[in-house]
Amino acid sequence: MSETLSILYRGFLSSCNYACNYCPFAKHTESKAEHQRDALALEQFVQWVETRGKLTSIFFTPWGEALIRSRYQKVVQQLSHLAHLEKVVVQTNGSWGLHWLEAVNLEKLALWITFHPSQTSVEKFATRVKELIQFGVRFSVGVVGIRENLELIEKLRQAIPPEIYLWINAFDRRGQDYYNPETLEKFTKIDPHFPLNLERYKSRGQACHAGHTVISVDGQGIARRCHFIETPIGRIFDSDFEQKLVAKLCTRAICDCHIGYVHLEKLNLYDVFQGGILERIPSNYASINGA
Ligand code: SF4
Ligand code: SF4
Repeated sequence: MSETLSILYRGFLSSCNYACNYCPFAKHTESKAEHQRDALALEQFVQWVETRGKLTSIFFTPWGEALIRSRYQKVVQQLSHLAHLEKVVVQTNGSWGLHWLEAVNLEKLALWITFHPSQTSVEKFATRVKELIQFGVRFSVGVVGIRENLELIEKLRQAIPPEIYLWINAFDRRGQDYYNPETLEKFTKIDPHFPLNLERYKSRGQACHAGHTVISVDGQGIARRCHFIETPIGRIFDSDFEQKLVAKLCTRAICDCHIGYVHLEKLNLYDVFQGGILERIPSNYASINGA
C-alpha cells in the first residue's frame, strides 16, 4: 500500500467570528464574491481528493474560522466517509454549533482547537471540550503561552479532563528569555512538549517529510512543500503532479512552527505524535475512538 499523502489546505477563506486584536482576519468581512471564490476552490480541491484514489489525509489550516461555514462542515462530512481518506483534521476555535457533527464519520475526524482568552471564558471553553468528548470527537486543545496568562492557562488545564492534551505555543517565538524559570517550569508541567515549541530549528539542508509525503495546497490548487516555503511544487490538477512529490532537503534557514517542524526528520517527532501528527495529539495521551 502506498504512503499516505497529508495535505495542509488553506484556501481563500479569510474571516472569523472571533475578533482577536492581533489578527487581520478578525477585521475582514468577506464579500459574497469572495465567499463564492472560496467555495468554488474548495469544491475543486475536494473533487480532486475524491478522484485521487490514494491514501490521503487533509488538514484544514484556514486563515480564519472555517467550521462556522456550512460549506466546510459539509466538506468535512463528505471527506470523512471517503474510503481512501485516512483522516480529516481542522484547526478551529471550536465556537460553532454541534449539529453538523451528526453526519460526520467521527473515526476519521480530528480537531486542533485553540483557546482564545479574549474571546471566550475558561468555563465556556471547558463546557465545549466536554461536549466534544461526549460526542466522541478526537482533538487537542491549546493556547498561546503569554506569560501574563499563566494563571488562566493553569485554570484551563484544571477545567478540562487530563486525557485531553493541552499544548502551549511559545509566544511569538520569543525564546527562553521571555519566560522566567518558574513560568517555564509551570508551562512545561502543563505541556510536557512546550520546550519543543520554544526552539527555532535550523532546517536548511535537513531532511523533511514536507514536499514528499506532506504538502500544502492553496485555493488555486498550487502545491508547496509547506506553508513556509513559497516555491511551488506544481498544480495538483496537472497530470504529472504525483511524480513531483519526491524527498528533498529543506531550503529555509529556520523552522519554528509545530505544523512545520513536526515533519523535520531529525527531530523524530513522528514517534512522539504517532497517530496524531496533524492534530497534535501525542501518542501517550488517551484518544477517544481508539484512533
Ligand atoms: S480565532 Fe483565530 S482566526 Fe479568529 S480572530 Fe482569533 S486568531 Fe484570528
Ligand atoms: S523543515 Fe519546516 S520549512 Fe523546511 S521544508 Fe520542513 S516544514 Fe518546510
